[in-house]
Amino acid sequence: MSYVQMNQVSKAFQEQKVLDSIDMQIKKGELVTLLGPSGCGKSTLLRILSGLTALDSGTIHIDDKDVTPIEPKDREIGMVFQSYALFPNLTVTDNIAFGLEMKKIPRDDIRRAVGEMIELTGLQGKERAFPRELSGGQQQRVALARSLVTKPKVLLLDEPLSALDAQIRKNLQQQLRSIQRELNMTTVLVTHDQEEAMAVSDHIYIMNAGHIAQHGAPHDIYTQPRNEFVARFIGSYN
Ligand code: ADP
Ligand code: MG
Repeated sequence: MSYVQMNQVSKAFQEQKVLDSIDMQIKKGELVTLLGPSGCGKSTLLRILSGLTALDSGTIHIDDKDVTPIEPKDREIGMVFQSYALFPNLTVTDNIAFGLEMKKIPRDDIRRAVGEMIELTGLQGKERAFPRELSGGQQQRVALARSLVTKPKVLLLDEPLSALDAQIRKNLQQQLRSIQRELNMTTVLVTHDQEEAMAVSDHIYIMNAGHIAQHGAPHDIYTQPRNEFVARFIGSYN
């Protein structure tokens, strides 16, 4: 079985079917991207994976365990959003440590884990800074460190870079990819940016109106679009 497996996941809001029988398999350590136009259901799919939104039908397995009935906090999932959502009155160190302090982990272990994350995300020298003193890219690295420090089984990233300037975004894409590889962190990245998807993904799922239009390796999708929607969507890349 794959590390993450969604089987026939469906979700409607009122009368509107937002996800229609979604199947998805993700291997341990893979970076999978959900790519598709605004409103196609990407964020809803991530929220269902994390447990923040309940599904109507279907099942989700993570690491051989059926997590479908399990609460968000017990799914061991890390999540980073477009807006950094840091605590404004806490330093970088305290923002990153927050999740571990909630878990009553010994102080020395917290200090070591936070130090490792600061190094991994390149935030050395910013330990005592407050969020307002950081650039957008730095704030997003704090958000990433804060998620990773809890050692989640799966990292979910909902358009984490889309609020950033083009050059910073490119740099962070590469950093994100190298951190993800170093930790062998199973990751689902949501984006509507084809270039970003092509640059960082092991596997891409292209979504259209609650369906998977096609999935495969970036190169295969780019060279062999299987239907008109994918051809047009990828065609808008250049
Ligand atoms: P994406 O992330 O791909 O832009 P979303 O998953 O946010 O798309 O939304 C998919 C569809 O579901 C949209 O039509 C959106 O308006 C609708 N939707 C999302 N969340 C809710 C909600 N809590 N209540 C009602 N409709 C929602
Ligand atoms: Mg979204």
